[in-house]
Amino acid sequence: MNPIYHQLDFGITCIDTEHMRKDFVAAYLIEDEGRAAFVDTGCYLSVPTLLATLDAKNIKRENVDYILLTHIHLDHAGGAGELIKYLPNATVYVHEYGAAHLIDPSKLRAGVIGVYGELFFKQFLGDLIPTPEDKVVIAKDGDVITLGNRTLKFIDTPGHARHHVCIWDEKSQGLFSGDTLGVSYREFDTDQGELIFPPTTPVQFDPEVWKDTIRHLMSFKPKYAYLTHFNRIEFTSQSADMLIQHIDGFVEIAKTLENQNNRHKAIKQKLLAYLLEIATKHGVILDETQQIKLFKGDLEICAQGLGVWLDRN
Ligand SMILES: [Zn+2]
Repeated sequence: MNPIYHQLDFGITCIDTEHMRKDFVAAYLIEDEGRAAFVDTGCYLSVPTLLATLDAKNIKRENVDYILLTHIHLDHAGGAGELIKYLPNATVYVHEYGAAHLIDPSKLRAGVIGVYGELFFKQFLGDLIPTPEDKVVIAKDGDVITLGNRTLKFIDTPGHARHHVCIWDEKSQGLFSGDTLGVSYREFDTDQGELIFPPTTPVQFDPEVWKDTIRHLMSFKPKYAYLTHFNRIEFTSQSADMLIQHIDGFVEIAKTLENQNNRHKAIKQKLLAYLLEIATKHGVILDETQQIKLFKGDLEICAQGLGVWLDRN
């Protein structure tokens, strides 16, 4: 198997897990002084790609010290239970609210099948297997771990999900941000920079908490965000403003359509119109069919998450 990966600097590799489509879901590999760590794993089906990346880079499996999970949504952590089988010296770091679901994923599995259906689960996520309890370590806010010659610090980052941490990499002045600093596809890059929008995924989306988290992350003065969706971007205060603006934009759409018949469909349509409009303003020149194709993966999930949020309030 030939893995697809993007070699960044500071010993960081962005691995394309090839989930659903190319350049959609990343996992990261950090190397330092002969030791290595994965940040997120992709889903169960991504594990062969992660192992092939180690092989391609001549990294021994024994030299992987950590699997660091930003949160337990399956495109980020679904592969943890499978991957740990191959990494004899690694431990899995996860937010305290995610740990129980790694050790016994039965509820998580049922929840995901409830949302996506059994067919999608099997075909695109593969499986979800337990992570042995003695391999799981709780990542608390402020905890620092050492990898070779560098330190990595966990930051509690609720808003996208309550079980979300970001990881501050002092060496590159970058944040491994999972979904907390938004999603941004390279196809939408223009001379105005990156187009960033919020994945308002079910079931814990909380806009006010999320915006506070973004402001807190900016106090680290990051140079980069290592996004799961997709790849590293420079992350400036304008990036943060854009993300916050679109969290508000998405929430506004949900509120406006709260009492609409067929609410989910209506939210989805309006979200798509919103995304196409911000892409146009951003100077994106891809044709609309192509844009819709790229937005499609997030649209359904974002609309569902907004619906769950409306019902909760
Ligand atoms: Zn997520």
